[in-house]
Amino acid sequence: MSSYNPACYLPESWASYIPNAVSCPPPPSYASQLYSFATSPFSSTYTTLRTMTNAVIGLPMLSFLLIPTMGSYSTSLNLLFFYLTWSTLVLSHPPLKVELIATLAVRLIFYVFPSLFFLAFDTLVPSAAENFKALGNSALPLRNASRKRTIAMARRVGWSIFNALLGVAIQASVELLFTRVLLWRSALRVTTTLPLPWGIIKDLAKGYLLREILTYILHRYILHDWNYTVKLARAHQDWYHSISTPFPLSATFDHPAAYLVRSFLPTYLPALFFRFHLLTYIFYLTLTSLEETFAYSGYSTMPTNFILGGMARRTDNHVLCGGEGNFGPWGLVDWVMGTSVGGELIDDLVAEADKHDVEGKVERAKGRVKRGVSQEAKGVKGAVKRRTRKRGDD
Ligand SMILES: [Zn+2]
Repeated sequence: MSSYNPACYLPESWASYIPNAVSCPPPPSYASQLYSFATSPFSSTYTTLRTMTNAVIGLPMLSFLLIPTMGSYSTSLNLLFFYLTWSTLVLSHPPLKVELIATLAVRLIFYVFPSLFFLAFDTLVPSAAENFKALGNSALPLRNASRKRTIAMARRVGWSIFNALLGVAIQASVELLFTRVLLWRSALRVTTTLPLPWGIIKDLAKGYLLREILTYILHRYILHDWNYTVKLARAHQDWYHSISTPFPLSATFDHPAAYLVRSFLPTYLPALFFRFHLLTYIFYLTLTSLEETFAYSGYSTMPTNFILGGMARRTDNHVLCGGEGNFGPWGLVDWVMGTSVGGELIDDLVAEADKHDVEGKVERAKGRVKRGVSQEAKGVKGAVKRRTRKRGDD
């Protein structure tokens, strides 16, 4: 940081007449210049990250979303502090840096690290992990692995992490393209104002809906183009569908171009299209990263079995059936288009609801059987009636 010092603009011969306190300091040595050039990216990154962690920890997300209903002192105070931290952060750091560090941190903390942890658990304690897996020991990535298979697995993990980072790099390039080359406004909204809770919810709903539709279209018609008129379809087949079951980190495992089409673009384009506020985007990316972590983990027990459990089974089924169905992550479009494989979304919900309500489960099962029987009986009756009517017409 150099500040303006008028003494530096005076002729050199005058320097000896000026008191030391105001005189122009000698230029920094090459060594110190080199040192600050090498360390400044790290020190400023650290400061940004620290400020942001403080901001997020100081604000329980829930109270932020419930502001209109709660309105207690502590919530308002929290919000005030968050607002101050946020505006200081945005004012004191280049927006691009804030965006990139936040994105990278979210991807690492909510996707890469927990997935690596799951993978380590599966590898180091296979006997225990087996019990948590929906597909039993066949879902263990390194089950009686030979040296060759271990190396292949390590390569897959490497590609997964590479792809996750590739996504962040592309996001950075888009921002650079927008702001430096095309001289447009930034792709995401980075302002000192905070988005309103209702705005966040609306953006998230729109974003997830578009993501679901885009994923379905791109995955089904480009990556599973069975005639292989699109080259990427072959790549998706050879890379992602070469695995027998999804493993933790496989959410980003694919041919890099196929990964971008299958997962990165459908997630990033809605944010770009609706021009999310950076905070909304961070929230959206956090939820998406957690979703990817759990949906590809293969575990049968999850924090929210109701939604994530169903998604994980759908992900398993997409791989098990060799890409016959289940193209979208949530299964909404699959359900509408009739491409669900291994139980529809509704079945997942019913199954989960049954699991949570064990007492009612038996009763409901009985009811379903009865209903099934009576419907069959009705169907038979209807058919008989129709037949008789037809005969009558004759
Ligand atoms: Zn596929």
